Amino acid sequence: MQKNLSEFDIIQKFFKPLATNGKMSQDLSDDVAKIDLKEDQQLIISKDMIVQDVHFKLSDGAKNIAKKLLLSNLSDIASSGAKPLCYVLGFSKNKHVDQEFIEEFVKGLKSVQNEYKISLIGGDTVKSKQLIFSVTIFAAIKKNKNLSRLKAKNNDLIFISGSIGDAYIGLNNEKYKLTAADKKFFLNRHLSPNPRVKLGQELVKNNLSKCAADISDGLLADLNHICNSSNLGAIIHQDKIPFSKPAQKLLKKHPNLFLKLISAGDDYELIFSANEKDYDKIQKLSKRLDINLTCIGKFTKKNNSQQISLLDSKSKIINIDKYGYEH
Ligand code: ADP
Ligand code: MG
Repeated sequence: MQKNLSEFDIIQKFFKPLATNGKMSQDLSDDVAKIDLKEDQQLIISKDMIVQDVHFKLSDGAKNIAKKLLLSNLSDIASSGAKPLCYVLGFSKNKHVDQEFIEEFVKGLKSVQNEYKISLIGGDTVKSKQLIFSVTIFAAIKKNKNLSRLKAKNNDLIFISGSIGDAYIGLNNEKYKLTAADKKFFLNRHLSPNPRVKLGQELVKNNLSKCAADISDGLLADLNHICNSSNLGAIIHQDKIPFSKPAQKLLKKHPNLFLKLISAGDDYELIFSANEKDYDKIQKLSKRLDINLTCIGKFTKKNNSQQISLLDSKSKIINIDKYGYEH
């Protein structure tokens, strides 16, 4: 196998085939890339950086590392409701990064690119002791139509997509007795997030929401971010929070897992606000997109003692000591 690939070789051989939009990427042959926008559109931009042994382990495999990096970045775009266009890649290499590593890394990027119809348009490649990768995504949306954490209103309903906590169980699967099928399900949810890009776009298009965030730090933490940004409180109900069938099974055996699941990160679902009058329309959207959309509570005026009130089935407050993951 070829050792010590030069920066030029890496870009030309491995990254150029990912630059599928030659107009934007200029085939990675210029110093810069360029993005054309229609006059009434705005760019929405998001960056993620991951560091070896902090956000990923080499043993995760290069393909999984690359996939998750791009998918989690797409989830930020999903929360804005914009249409993803293209991305730039920060790539680092050291002695662990051989041809096979790069091929697997590129395979991971390629599979996500194909699914979301985006192109690599540029980046930078450096040597470093510890591996660091980054992606910056660019997306387009009609001016000032983006969903935002700042735009929730008092009395708005709180919805979440999909199910919560599966990725946490996937990451910690060794701690639990799981059937092979359930383990596979949780591991997949951990390694291969499903960013709700289409859902974000549909919420904007159908004018069903003004406010959304993606759940990356944990349900409670990300709801708390919305409350802080919109200057509101929230009431949510324990028995409304959606868990997958395998997670429900596990929760029966380990009820204490509940608070962990709603404060662990990496779900990459959307949490969004909606006016009560649009409840039925959201149920219809849920059917059309085949994504569970569950109302778990509502926004309230700011309450000084506790920003989020979590109620059990008897409407008693459950104490929360930790909202979620902090960077
Ligand atoms: P400069 O040294 O002028 O910054 P480079 O030689 O690093 O430019 O890059 C040459 C071209 O290759 C540029 O178009 C750049 O965007 C692209 N490129 C470099 N690294 C990457 C990467 N990791 N992914 C995608 N494109 C890259
Ligand atoms: Mg240059």
